[in-house]
Amino acid sequence: METEKGKFKMNENEIFKKYQLEMNERIGFIERELENYPEHKTDIEDLRTDVPYISQRLDNIESHLNKKCDDLEELIYEIKEKIRDCNRKPYKCPVCNGNGNVLSEGAKLAFNQYMTTGLDLSHKCLSCDGKGIVWG
Ligand SMILES: [Zn+2]
Repeated sequence: METEKGKFKMNENEIFKKYQLEMNERIGFIERELENYPEHKTDIEDLRTDVPYISQRLDNIESHLNKKCDDLEELIYEIKEKIRDCNRKPYKCPVCNGNGNVLSEGAKLAFNQYMTTGLDLSHKCLSCDGKGIVWG
């Protein structure tokens, strides 16, 4: 048992020595790296200025892309509308009879009361959005 214990103690010391050597090596490496720090200092300082710049650029690109996506979505919507319209036939708007303008009930009343005023009491037809054409 004594021998085993002694052996173990020796191994323990060897392991300790081994780690101590490794630690010294690592410390040496870190110290050498620290000596090289002035070389990296400029790189680090450059990064400090580059990172906000790049971040700003990415923000700009992102908002530009978002705008482009919105534009494309709008375009797709318009194209879809046009395709839908291509499959439909135009009819003369029954509300304004193709004029694009109608008289409101109030305006009709006023018109009847002041037939000779010559005022334009019409407003854009809501049914055809003033185009005089509806699609069916
Ligand atoms: Zn109309």
